[in-house]
Amino acid sequence: MPRLLLTAGPTREPIDPVRFLSNASTGRQGVALAIEAASRRWRVDLVHGPLEVAVPAGVHAHSVGSSEDMYRACLRLHESCDVLIGAAAVSDYRPVRTLEAKRKRTRERWTLELEPTRDILGELGGRKGTRVHVGFALETDRLLENARRKLESKNLDLIVANPAEAIGAETSRYVLLDRAGDVRELGTLTKSELARVLCDAIQALLDGGPGASESPAGR
Ligand code: C5P
Repeated sequence: MPRLLLTAGPTREPIDPVRFLSNASTGRQGVALAIEAASRRWRVDLVHGPLEVAVPAGVHAHSVGSSEDMYRACLRLHESCDVLIGAAAVSDYRPVRTLEAKRKRTRERWTLELEPTRDILGELGGRKGTRVHVGFALETDRLLENARRKLESKNLDLIVANPAEAIGAETSRYVLLDRAGDVRELGTLTKSELARVLCDAIQALLDGGPGASESPAGR
């Protein structure tokens, strides 16, 4: 049975011991994928930030806080996985410094200096080997063009593109792109329906279906 490494939910980038930068991700898409994969008897390692939904039974959950924690957990688990799905909304920036003590409220302005976080899927893309790697691209404009660029830069086999209106919505319009250049309009689906379609597409790649290959660079 395939071993799936799955990221889900937001990350929290600490500013001081009580404050952080984060985003509105609920983790619902990642959890829907975990439920679908577990129902197929896949071994699921779910590396997740704070979720608004319960971790499903039958998955191995690894709770993390920051993007750096998520990266380290993924690095440890990646070696032994067959499939990696990045469904987490990893914070794109983090404070350059984390204050050791809570910053007191004053009447002064406060400017926070931010730096980019690590691109988890991008970095693990360099160690992909024969694994199947899958990502998501939530875009406000030029959906397919941006999704294709991310598929290539992160060395993915599949990328699910959806418009940014999807945030918090029950259903969304999805498009599935693969590295062979195939574009499948999936129509409007719930997160559970998308999970089923995506696990089918991954299983086809694992079975040696169309598009199943190592990266051209042999990574
Ligand atoms: O580049 P962008 O954030 O739009 O890419 C989205 C995809 O990359 C998602 O699959 C997300 O989980 C993953 N990602 C990541 N690490 C980051 C940013 C995004 O793994 N720092």
